[in-house]
Amino acid sequence: MTPEEFRRHGKQVVDWIADYLAGIESRPVMSQVEPGEIRRAVPERPPEHGEPFEAVLADVERVLLPGVTHWQHPGFFAYFPSNASGPSILGDLLSSGLGVQGMLWITSPACTELETVVVDWLADLLGLPDHFRTDGRGGGVIQDSASSACLVALLAALHRAGGGRVASEGIDRRYTLYVSSQTHSSLEKAARIAGLGAAGVRVVDVDPRTMAMDPAHLRTLLERDEAAGAVPAMVCATVGTTSTTAIDPVAAIGDVCRERGVWLHVDAAYAGVAAVCPEFRWINDGVAAYADSYATNPHKWLLTNFDCTVLWTADRAPLLGALSILPDYLRNAATSSGSVVDYRDWQVPLGRRFRALKLWSVIRWYGAEGLRAHIRSGVALAQELASWISAEPGFEVHEPHPLGLVCFRPLWPGMPPDEADRATTWLMDRLNAGGSLYLTHTKIAGRVVLRMAVGGVATEHHHVKSAWDRIREEHAALAATRQ
Ligand SMILES: *Cc1c(COP(=O)(O)O)cnc(C)c1O
Repeated sequence: MTPEEFRRHGKQVVDWIADYLAGIESRPVMSQVEPGEIRRAVPERPPEHGEPFEAVLADVERVLLPGVTHWQHPGFFAYFPSNASGPSILGDLLSSGLGVQGMLWITSPACTELETVVVDWLADLLGLPDHFRTDGRGGGVIQDSASSACLVALLAALHRAGGGRVASEGIDRRYTLYVSSQTHSSLEKAARIAGLGAAGVRVVDVDPRTMAMDPAHLRTLLERDEAAGAVPAMVCATVGTTSTTAIDPVAAIGDVCRERGVWLHVDAAYAGVAAVCPEFRWINDGVAAYADSYATNPHKWLLTNFDCTVLWTADRAPLLGALSILPDYLRNAATSSGSVVDYRDWQVPLGRRFRALKLWSVIRWYGAEGLRAHIRSGVALAQELASWISAEPGFEVHEPHPLGLVCFRPLWPGMPPDEADRATTWLMDRLNAGGSLYLTHTKIAGRVVLRMAVGGVATEHHHVKSAWDRIREEHAALAATRQ
């Protein structure tokens, strides 16, 4: 493809995306295809002869779109909505256009230096401590996902817990990791990848009402393990759990970690970016004083398309100790001088995309006030939704719900719990099949609850209102037939 051909097709693609976004509301939020349907619609063998790009674009529309779930639809309230804003898509396109491989400073100084600038900017915007900044002992780095951030934090924690010998000697069965039942599953995966296995993972109790980790039980588990000869490597506290946005008491957990010299990782994948607003800065409580590492995902709620997680550490030495390897073919004067950052030493893969470009585009386009407005609108809509649900006799809202996620349960008077849970699931499936909204569920205290996460780029007041009206009407209709 020549640059002139690229110009022509590139304009077609940008027009196509703009039309897609402008017309997205007319599509059903959730894909309606059966397993195998998309595979069968695409030729089994690759083409021998090249095809015009128009043919690809036509098939995106005709073959693929029916199999796409529209994460940017304003009625998308499932999981946590995606946050692909215009400037982030364009920033990503620029990154693709440059095709830079940013593994070392020398492989593209702008890729590394812009990343350092934007992660420091973001630390500043979120009110994170100065020691997370790259000019101190710590520093931030963009990872593909919070799962990678957890794994990298665990590797650094193991390195520190093993007195710096883990990188050369490997880890043994004595090391342990502490999570709660509400911690994201990526932590258990990280434990498996790192070689701790599920047997090395301890599950700390949570408060049955708030679902937040119990620091007293954490202390008990740590004491028991140490007495038995284990080496506690890391505790993961969560600010805003995936299931219900529960917030672990970071300061109290941090106290226990400090007493015993255990690494504290704070996973704030979804909620962390809310700290752009001063009124939500309380979610950082304890982070400055206690966190050894901290991660949040601009791709979950800060107008940035997947993938973009920022991981900060208070002290980069254990991270670099765990992950630095310098083969001969990567040696260069800049690296040897020690005056540059090589982000390949801060992550699992060697290669890395120029992700800073999209975050930079987002921060510059919206400015701090635009970012705050986005978070505030998501929280305000979610709070209004929660007030409607609480006012409705046939529903129960899970408290607290401080951010953009509301968990609630339709009530089915007279039904035993199991049957009521099935009815709730049935209601959810009916709602999702309707096409105008998409929500998912979780379990709280063994009961099925619906989750409605507000925070999509295009979601406005009337979308939330009409989603709630549908939920209420469907529930009333179903409850009536089941009486
Ligand atoms: C979503 C989420 C993750 C995983 O995020 P990825 O970036 O998809 O890996 C981890 N932790 C929490 C608390 C989350 O909500």
